[in-house]
Amino acid sequence: MKIKDLYTKGPPVLSLEVFPPRRSSGLDTVFDTLSKLRELQPDFISVTYGAAGSQRDHTVEISSRILSDFEIEPLAHLTCIGHTREEIRDILQKLSDRGIENVLALRGDLPENEEDLPDRRDYVFARDLVRDITANSGFGIGAAAYPEGHVECPRIEQDLQHLKQKVDAGVDFLITQLFFDNRIYYDFVERARKVGIDVPIVPGIMPVLSASQIKRIIYLCGVSIPAGILKLLDHHGDDPREMERAGIEYASRQVCDLLENGVPGVHLYTMNRHRQIRQIAESTGLAGEKKSRCGAEVRGGCACERL
Ligand code: FAD
Repeated sequence: MKIKDLYTKGPPVLSLEVFPPRRSSGLDTVFDTLSKLRELQPDFISVTYGAAGSQRDHTVEISSRILSDFEIEPLAHLTCIGHTREEIRDILQKLSDRGIENVLALRGDLPENEEDLPDRRDYVFARDLVRDITANSGFGIGAAAYPEGHVECPRIEQDLQHLKQKVDAGVDFLITQLFFDNRIYYDFVERARKVGIDVPIVPGIMPVLSASQIKRIIYLCGVSIPAGILKLLDHHGDDPREMERAGIEYASRQVCDLLENGVPGVHLYTMNRHRQIRQIAESTGLAGEKKSRCGAEVRGGCACERL
């Protein structure tokens, strides 16, 4: 199944993202998490592609088992920055042999020291990978989008032009980096439409579950932190349980508002947690077969009023 087709049908698409463990010994824990996430009946589950060697193999293995054991469509992430064309061809072949039909084509983060980049660089930007996949295989292709601009690009409008080039190379749908203020997403979609990007732009939502996580997010992604999140920190930063409850509530409100505004779907960054993700998916009516736009007949209605 091509994931792009999910976005042309009625109810909003629920997708989840998991990451491979650092060591093989952690694989069972991931599969255990997946068995719990399956109960939410997500439309697809994406698996990140790690910088380290063994994690890369795990992406293929986990994606494969999501399809064979859990009967859910997988989306395998693939970064190209350190890979040769032959290596990419091999990975795509492995994915194809296992029946995987969709990839999220990414450049990957640059190493801190430029000398750590391989001498031979077959790919410079994700766009190059998208072109390669489009020309040589039949995979459905997703790519990343940054509502606040990618950290490396000095001008937001320039970043949008780069995104347009990437989409024109053959991208079927975009998944955004996390954001905490939905207005940033709505503005971004509007600007993207104006420059002619017409594929589905799926909002990526990550619940803030701890104070330390917020610092990591700022450091790694460079996203802005609105007053609402700073208030959570001020009020609950010293109380882990309250902080988690408030973070789930904040993310649920974001999701409800997005659904009310007719997004094509919601991509939840699970951080390999299931209990918290279940709360968000169920309270917003995203989980289960009878999904509907916010406020409809799902399990007693949308949670907005109850939050
Ligand atoms: P690109 O689209 O290539 O963009 C990278 C930078 O290059 C941008 O600043 C862009 O403006 C610039 N650029 C693009 N084209 C041009 C051009 N023609 N000329 C000049 N500049 C240009 N990382 C992982 O390692 N593994 C994962 O599994 C993973 N999953 C992700 C999933 C999502 C939904 C998102 C949003 C990010 C994910 N990342 C992942 C992080 C991603 O790899 C980094 O953000 C990376 O720095 C950029 O990747 P990209 O594919 O967006 O790159």
